[in-house]
Amino acid sequence: MTSSLESSLAAETRAVEEGHRAFVQDDGSIRVVSDTRPGVAYHITFDTLGGDQRIRFWCDCPASPHHSRTQPGHVACKHEALAARRLEREGLARWDPEAGWVITDKAAITRRPDPFERL
Ligand SMILES: [Zn+2]
Repeated sequence: MTSSLESSLAAETRAVEEGHRAFVQDDGSIRVVSDTRPGVAYHITFDTLGGDQRIRFWCDCPASPHHSRTQPGHVACKHEALAARRLEREGLARWDPEAGWVITDKAAITRRPDPFERL
């Protein structure tokens, strides 16, 4: 069985190989566009629940499961994997081998009250 870390990295690799790029939008959400398929773009949003540090990602592509089935800390499609990596570059997320994608101390410090309220 493939670990979630391996699936996450594999999904990201596929996204990069397929020419997808992640852009942070004015409202803080992330838009992933395809360089190889003009006009194709998906919208990724994310948040955390209460004191849980794990990030929940939502993508509007067909490969992403319904919201209620999204597992905190995990990514469900390559777009969410790219979005997570983008947040990592911003210093707002990090990969935890136990929990998956979690918010960083930097994100926690800027909590107002939720660091991803506007993201
Ligand atoms: Zn997706």
